[in-house]
Amino acid sequence: LIDFPYSHVLVLGLAKSGTAAAKVFLANEKNVRVNDMQAVEEDEVVKELKALGASVILGEHPISVLDEIEIIVKNPGIPYSNPILEEAMERNIPIITEIELAGQLTEGPVIGITGSNGKTTTTILTAQMIEKSNLPVKAAGNIGHVATEVAQTVKEAETMVLELSSFQLLGIEKFRPKVAVLLNIFEAHLDYHKTMDSYKKAKFNIFKNQESDDYLVYNADDPAITAAIPEASSQKVPFSIHRQLDNGVWLSGESIYFKNEIVIDRKDIVLVGEHNLENILASIAAAKLCGATNKGIGEVLKTFSGVKHRLQFVDNINDRLFYNDSKATNLLATEKALTSFQQPTILLAGGLDRGNEFNDLLPFLENVKAMVLFGETREKLKKTAENAGIETIILAETMQEAVHEAYAVSDRNDVILLSPACASWDQYRTFEERGDMFIQAVHTLV
Ligand code: ADP
Repeated sequence: LIDFPYSHVLVLGLAKSGTAAAKVFLANEKNVRVNDMQAVEEDEVVKELKALGASVILGEHPISVLDEIEIIVKNPGIPYSNPILEEAMERNIPIITEIELAGQLTEGPVIGITGSNGKTTTTILTAQMIEKSNLPVKAAGNIGHVATEVAQTVKEAETMVLELSSFQLLGIEKFRPKVAVLLNIFEAHLDYHKTMDSYKKAKFNIFKNQESDDYLVYNADDPAITAAIPEASSQKVPFSIHRQLDNGVWLSGESIYFKNEIVIDRKDIVLVGEHNLENILASIAAAKLCGATNKGIGEVLKTFSGVKHRLQFVDNINDRLFYNDSKATNLLATEKALTSFQQPTILLAGGLDRGNEFNDLLPFLENVKAMVLFGETREKLKKTAENAGIETIILAETMQEAVHEAYAVSDRNDVILLSPACASWDQYRTFEERGDMFIQAVHTLV
């Protein structure tokens, strides 16, 4: 049974994580109410929860759902400006996310990984490094496995690697990772968090409950992070791709060091991109702190060629190298992708218009010889391309057309890169769908 001093629980939002949380509470004999505004139909999940004893309210958010409630577990996507949550805050009802529950359910050590970019890559790398060192490990969080579900299957001595968004971290009370990893902090998601300060605060929640026998792995090259580090009570393990450190993990010359010992040489690493070196250093630190060996780490880095849709190598067609970076849904991610290549590059970009301009890309467009643009932002991107003096600017309707146009203007040894700098929701359901369309279109070239 969980140590949870509340008997009346409201689960707000019936996605996979809400369902998993509701089931845990029901199994612990709590009084569970589930409320979802969007779901209106009684599907199998709803029937199952009802059969287990939950009361379920769908399609509306009446204030009465708060009656008798002592704690709320909310879906990370529901903003705090939701009227139910505003009222709950008035009444001082605590609001948590599923992560708090997951933290309580695991028996083994937890590695929590957060940052604006690189979370998924770092989570996967870390878990693989531990696995290849023949130690038990499971990965969960945003990467597709619901933390609460995975947490229940984690055994003592098994490490759980959790990818954590700032939305999830806002809703923690006692969550205390053995190893916390802070990758970077950029201005993303300001629409949700309103101010940069509240966004940073959410990320720094990752170490707020840590104590002196825990570890905080952090990017020593990110001033927004280093400024907050003195607040942490845990042992500091910095990483840097730019300079040698007294402690921690760093890249110097052609090798990566962990506390003065060489872990791997850069030439043996398959993954491209300077930003991925940061993710690699962070993974090495976290994995080593949980017992990984240099041999296990080496095995991973000598073969791992990228997570799908994240600067993923797709194919070489007539000496054109195609890369799928559909996950690049903001400017910064696209900047990182562009700095990963020295070759002439044809950039495919565009998507949902969030109101921002694209001129921040200008310093990164030096190697870009052509741009193929689509989606709501294509006219804005066209202006940026013109400002950069790029001669070949093509507007396309579909991914198929974009890929064929790109190929038509390419030469041997060019990189053809999908890195949209925008979310996908104007034309696709998800960034995965957009990336899959790109891969499909590339394969129609052969
Ligand atoms: P997240 O899970 O945080 O969204 P991913 O690992 O899925 O991060 O990577 C998303 C994109 O962010 C990548 O395609 C890449 O363009 C960019 N990115 C990854 N790691 C970093 C990093 N350390 N610094 C800056 N940008 C990065």
